[in-house]
Amino acid sequence: MSYTVPKLKDFSPAALDKAASALLAALEKESASLANEADRKAFRDRWLARKDGVLTQINDLWLKAAPKDGKREVGQRVNTLKKEVEQKVEATRKQPAAATSDSALDISLPGIRRPSGAEHPIIRTMNEIIAVFRNLGYSVAEGPVVETDYYNFESLNFPPNHPARDTQDTLFLANQESKPPRERLLLRTHTSPVQIRTMEKLKPPLRILVPGKVHRNDPPDASHSPMFHQVEGLAVDTNITFGDLKGTLDHAMKALFGSDVKTSFRPSFFPFTEPSAEMFVSCFICGGSGKRGADSCRPCKQTGWIEILGCGMVDPNVFEFVKCNGYDPEKVSGFAFGMGVDRIAMLKYGLDDLQLFFQGDVRFLEQFG
Ligand SMILES: [Zn+2]
Repeated sequence: MSYTVPKLKDFSPAALDKAASALLAALEKESASLANEADRKAFRDRWLARKDGVLTQINDLWLKAAPKDGKREVGQRVNTLKKEVEQKVEATRKQPAAATSDSALDISLPGIRRPSGAEHPIIRTMNEIIAVFRNLGYSVAEGPVVETDYYNFESLNFPPNHPARDTQDTLFLANQESKPPRERLLLRTHTSPVQIRTMEKLKPPLRILVPGKVHRNDPPDASHSPMFHQVEGLAVDTNITFGDLKGTLDHAMKALFGSDVKTSFRPSFFPFTEPSAEMFVSCFICGGSGKRGADSCRPCKQTGWIEILGCGMVDPNVFEFVKCNGYDPEKVSGFAFGMGVDRIAMLKYGLDDLQLFFQGDVRFLEQFG
């Protein structure tokens, strides 16, 4: 090893050029003499080792030693140099091992490609939604996917035999007839049970976001799946009003879909909120016109509005179930909302078939890398 990193006294551009080209010449020479894997490893260590590699040395001897007014210039040069060295060293990794005899190795064989992974579009969308609410001070809460009837229905103001249960085709676990109804296990039909579970553990005030998988007995088609994803939100404090709900969700939708989207609330019904509403956002695909050029806009069905979530003020009956932990409906109020992540991801990425998300086809998924 003949090359050692010199200490610099002169930091002028010309001197730096000279030092850099001496370094690159040494790199070139050493890389040309690598005979086997052990050589290549020693070569990598010598140039890239964090502790005492050449790159670390130029950082110490050149960059750190540079005079204050020249640091910027030297820093830029050292960075460029680092990149060149890293590329060169990386390139030697790809050299085929030297053949021991003419027939031992077929260098025409293609190499082994390691595909890099990507975040699944649903997880990515979920994380985007979470990030918006984290900035508003919400924390993330999670709960079990296999849930009891009590948490999934009863404590959310769905009494036994309440007709609202029929709207959520529930998948129950088999052979539980001997258990009392409220203890029977099912696959949660919404993320809302985590509202009660969290209020049992934490006293008000509370602001949580609940992402997760939910299940319903829906046969798979372009817009349904027996497994899908929701993000649920809950805020409880004193004096929370419907105005807080509207302000929070309007802000969140602008953060998610662009600052020019409008929101609209229309009355609805959910057992665990009163009053309840469905929230629509102005179509961010056609800009609310209902048209795309000469064609009609399919995602908003030409209405200019897209239904995006359900929400409402927490029903006092729900607080009754956690009253002993400080949720006295006379003293606290709150709002809750829930949205389907899969549909939002379809809208964001312009897909018309929900099943694409769950088929695990790499050709589809790698587009999101
Ligand atoms: Zn539209």
